[in-house]
Amino acid sequence: MRRLALYWLVRMSDQRSRVAVLGSTGSIGTQTLDLISQFEDRFEIVGLGAGHWSPTLAEQVKRWEPELISVAGKPTDGDASGVPLQVGDEALEGLVDLLAPDIVVRGKPGLVGIKACLLALRQGARVLVANKEPLVTAGDVVCETAKKYGGTILPVDSEHSGVWQCLRGENIEDVQRIILTSSGGALRDVPIAELDAVKPEQALQHPTWSMGPKITIDSATLMNKGLEIIEASWLFSVPPSLVSVIMHRQSIVHALVEFRDGSVKAQLSTTDMRFPLLHALVYPDRPSAKLPLLDLVAAGTLTFEPVDDERYPALNLAREAAKAGASYPAVLNAANEIAVERFLAGDLGFTQIVPVVKRALDLHHPEADRSLAAILAVDSWARGVAREMDF
Ligand code: MG
Repeated sequence: MRRLALYWLVRMSDQRSRVAVLGSTGSIGTQTLDLISQFEDRFEIVGLGAGHWSPTLAEQVKRWEPELISVAGKPTDGDASGVPLQVGDEALEGLVDLLAPDIVVRGKPGLVGIKACLLALRQGARVLVANKEPLVTAGDVVCETAKKYGGTILPVDSEHSGVWQCLRGENIEDVQRIILTSSGGALRDVPIAELDAVKPEQALQHPTWSMGPKITIDSATLMNKGLEIIEASWLFSVPPSLVSVIMHRQSIVHALVEFRDGSVKAQLSTTDMRFPLLHALVYPDRPSAKLPLLDLVAAGTLTFEPVDDERYPALNLAREAAKAGASYPAVLNAANEIAVERFLAGDLGFTQIVPVVKRALDLHHPEADRSLAAILAVDSWARGVAREMDF
């Protein structure tokens, strides 16, 4: 009898979804693990991937006992507590290959781990994309791979999760307009004439969201919203022109969808990334979770304003890149990533970020070859150009 009970206990644990978290020590990774600790009956952490071995990773390994870990660089202090470790550039791919997880949470910044995500899609996994870069740079490759092999790409970006939730039960043909909201970022009230002198510390003070440094700077320039327009067009198979942006300082309404009968649906929640993460993890379910509930009365007035194009030139630049298509969005993304990196290093002024990206786009000759190798070559070219550019 006891043996039978044990058998069913093991069977039940086998039915949990096997989750790999790529970028487990970053903002998305730690929030994913925090959320999963509320749903251990549904999920099992089988793999953790991080940039390097760290006390945080060591703690996570102890807590979650994954089957496999991957790090980009060799651990210098201590080992992986006996858990098999993959090391090197291909380590994330190796982890996905060996574990074949049901769910892959991709919290890695930039294009790191794109091959691992494509492999997960080929294995039919549910891939939660927290960063825009793979879709912006290689949206066609990512979407075609998912379609061909039965994998699913689910958004973790709050605005896209909002759009997705508004679209549940609707036909995409009935959509007239998708509206993404933007808080305006850390510098929304700094006079335009003073933006030249802004220091990284100032630009990193996001008014509503707690996120990694790169995306926080992208929020201050609004490049983040530009990348989100491109991301939305791939996720929901709509032209970028259908996606618009409005300023909403409180970040309570994440997205709105207007249908052709004029009716508008909106998605609201408190500003906590665990909401979009949860929705993507448990979809189509709506389990109760310990997350901060929205109190609209306490939230007070919700405001909506148009985007100031002079303050945020990145948005129109992103629109132009989206319209040009082909490899232009890849250049936009890569050049921006380097420009942000240079700004954070004190090597570039805040108002020089967008001109660096613009110049890289101007110098670019579009690439018709849409293989991943060709896309990565464009990405690397744009990074080189943005890195060497003098201002
Ligand atoms: Mg977002």
